Amino acid sequence: IRVQEYRPQAFTNFTKEENVKAYQEALAKVRQEIVGKHYPLIIDGQKVDTAERMVSLNPCDTDEVVGTTAAATKEHVDQAIAGAWKAFESWKKWDMDARARILLKASAILKRRRLEACAIMSIEAGKNYAEADVEVAEAIDFLEYYARSAMKYAHFGSAETTWFEGEENGLMWIPLGVGVSISPWNFPAAIFLGMLAAPIVVGNCMVVKPADNAGVIAGFIADIMLEAGLPAGVLQFLPGHGSEIGDAMTGHPKTRFITFTGSVPVGLRIHEVAAKVQPGQKWIKRTVMELGGKDALIVDETADIENAVTSAVQSAFGFNGQKCSAMSRLIVVDDVYDEVVGKVVERAGKLTMGTGEENANVTAVISQKAFKSISEYQKVGAGEGKVLLGGEAPGEHNGKKGNYIQPTIIGDVDRNARISQEEIFGPVVAVFRAKDWQDALDIANSTVYGLTGGVCSNSRERLEEAREKFEVGNLYFNRKITGAIVGVQPFGGYNMSGTDSKAGGPDYLSNFMQLKTVTERW
Ligand code: NAP
Repeated sequence: IRVQEYRPQAFTNFTKEENVKAYQEALAKVRQEIVGKHYPLIIDGQKVDTAERMVSLNPCDTDEVVGTTAAATKEHVDQAIAGAWKAFESWKKWDMDARARILLKASAILKRRRLEACAIMSIEAGKNYAEADVEVAEAIDFLEYYARSAMKYAHFGSAETTWFEGEENGLMWIPLGVGVSISPWNFPAAIFLGMLAAPIVVGNCMVVKPADNAGVIAGFIADIMLEAGLPAGVLQFLPGHGSEIGDAMTGHPKTRFITFTGSVPVGLRIHEVAAKVQPGQKWIKRTVMELGGKDALIVDETADIENAVTSAVQSAFGFNGQKCSAMSRLIVVDDVYDEVVGKVVERAGKLTMGTGEENANVTAVISQKAFKSISEYQKVGAGEGKVLLGGEAPGEHNGKKGNYIQPTIIGDVDRNARISQEEIFGPVVAVFRAKDWQDALDIANSTVYGLTGGVCSNSRERLEEAREKFEVGNLYFNRKITGAIVGVQPFGGYNMSGTDSKAGGPDYLSNFMQLKTVTERW
């Protein structure tokens, strides 16, 4: 196919009035056309409804129902997996370029509906304009990037082998079969879409389960993939409760691989279920796991303080800290601790609270369950350090009931405290006073996680040391530690943070294929 080189999508500038106006028009359109909509399951291209309807609420106004989805049962899982294997028989034979074209077509549709997708997430997930915009840009990037990656496999399909007298030797990439994709609610468009598009473009068929709290945007995205021309059965859309159908999906003997993004406990559970061989199963299931984080930013005494403060506040409180890459630990060397922490607290104290639709800096966290868990951590943190900012969970704002939590900063925390070790997944930051640079690096590496991390420093030696010793999959110097861009910063974690599959990276598609070596003696 003749396509231009991959370039990430530009972000929208919301300081321009016309862009804000266009966003607000999209909100109005979505309120009219999508809010209240119901999304059934899609099995073998057919819409299938269920007696139970899963309800998605607006986190910023929990009296509002954003929409509903059907709730798949174990029987639906069986049907979806069987149907996907049937579809695989023809899908695996499609030309790589032809499959890539479907992703490019989906990208074109999503580009046209970009603002609608953003607006849905403002209402369903409480994303402000910039957060939603960056996410939809990432979703488009995944489609564009994986389409081009697939084409490379087509054209240079046989990886290089060494020449051997009297024989032809070669390698073929082949799809694995039917996979299960289980995604989180926090990037309900980009991660959901990236995790299904990558395996599909190289010839697999997917049974996909979005997260409970973000079914509407998932239904919107699934519809776009089908509109782009995916044949029936290649994408089986199966919203449902993880606790009810999760094991059935991952433990199924005909599930060939599982791609999962979510928390460590659920990821480890899936890994364990997948490891157990079921009667009738004839492969070792492959698992691709991208899990939680306890991400740290180090600021040393040589750093540009203003830049460090901006980096810390953006990394900690963007989308209320509900990013796997969010800074939940700020480590500052003693010499500049008071200055840096004082400024971070001052800056974070100015963040506005409100709804995603109002484009507030800080909105409500996703669910009642998250609200309870985070507010509990606020209390635990108050006993483990000094509350420098926030600490309250009002649970309402401007007369609207919602899962509102104040941005919270807790100072002088011990590296072994619970709020230093456990992922909170909300706007709660633990701050550490490090004796010096070495101590700071030790603190940074003192959890079981290893997703993102950052250093603000002007010392070349220290940056070089961090390159080598900071145990994370994505390391950032002198900038925020969130916001990886597809193709630019391939994303994935070390240690308990995952299997480091590097979504949006040059080898990502190989997670969903196997190689066959073929030798013919002449
Ligand atoms: P979660 O609670 O682990 O849920 C993730 C998905 O797993 C949901 O679709 C959930 O379904 C499903 N699930 C629950 N129990 C299951 C089971 N027994 N078997 C199979 N699936 C099951 O995570 P989340 O709250 O949605 O997302 C936040 C977490 O994701 C954080 O830990 C964050 O760090 C991590 N995350 C990691 C990355 C990364 O790239 N490393 C990116 C984003 C998020 P239900 O919704 O129906 O329960």
